[in-house]
Amino acid sequence: MKASADFGFRKVAPEEKTRLVGEVFSSVASKYDVMNDLMSAGMHRLWKRDFVRSAHLQAGQRALDLAGGTGDISKLMARAVGDTGFVVLSDINAAMLGHGRDRMLDAGCFGRVGMARINAEALPFAKRTFDLVTIAFGLRNVTDKSRALREMHRVLKIGGKVMVLEFSELRVEALKAAYDGYSFQVLPRLGKWIAGDAESYRYLAESIRKHPNQEALKLLIEQSGFARVSVRNLFGGMVAIHTGWSV
Ligand code: SAM
Repeated sequence: MKASADFGFRKVAPEEKTRLVGEVFSSVASKYDVMNDLMSAGMHRLWKRDFVRSAHLQAGQRALDLAGGTGDISKLMARAVGDTGFVVLSDINAAMLGHGRDRMLDAGCFGRVGMARINAEALPFAKRTFDLVTIAFGLRNVTDKSRALREMHRVLKIGGKVMVLEFSELRVEALKAAYDGYSFQVLPRLGKWIAGDAESYRYLAESIRKHPNQEALKLLIEQSGFARVSVRNLFGGMVAIHTGWSV
């Protein structure tokens, strides 16, 4: 089997990457939310709020949240689309989605949020179904990113948009050494301590380094059929929001 996919710093066969990523998220699902708060000192909440606010969703619109995990983005979008709109919280991983379902119930969002266990690379929706497709901290984990982006383009209405929130390339030279130290020394220890799993958090740090940087991801989104693709850096480029339009 050809080893052509990156699983962190390792090259593996594409189907092996999908399996290994599945193991990562099944392992961390129950501690995923608390780890996000600890690792980012709560910053991920601000990034996600900024991301959904900048989507400018309107009441009555339909949104698809891919790799939505425990549902942070879907919950924010459900508020924005109101009673007449609809959000689909989707993920490939049953354990992550199970926690998402519980959180949607707790938040009283169920009337506006549907759930779907799906692979972002093969979407079971008709073309031109959604006004917005989001993928937050998810694209990095998808084996065939181009295929997933082409699928997002297919299910978007003309005039709809795709938004990608993802770790990217830090552009503040003075912070790079500290960021590397934190990523490769602190994160795995935190993962071991809280989630009993150092390896999954080592994968997190490695997968961020292997993910296409701002310019490369912009190109990939354009090559998948999107127009007027823009990038906005958050936190000096540690995280970036890419937006592309279906025209
Ligand atoms: N979007 C959520 C958030 O921002 O908190 C969860 C992000 S979590 C880091 C990445 C998610 O991507 C996991 O829940 C994982 O199961 C999902 N994922 C990985 N590969 C996927 C694929 N091919 N299709 C759909 N979801 C996938």
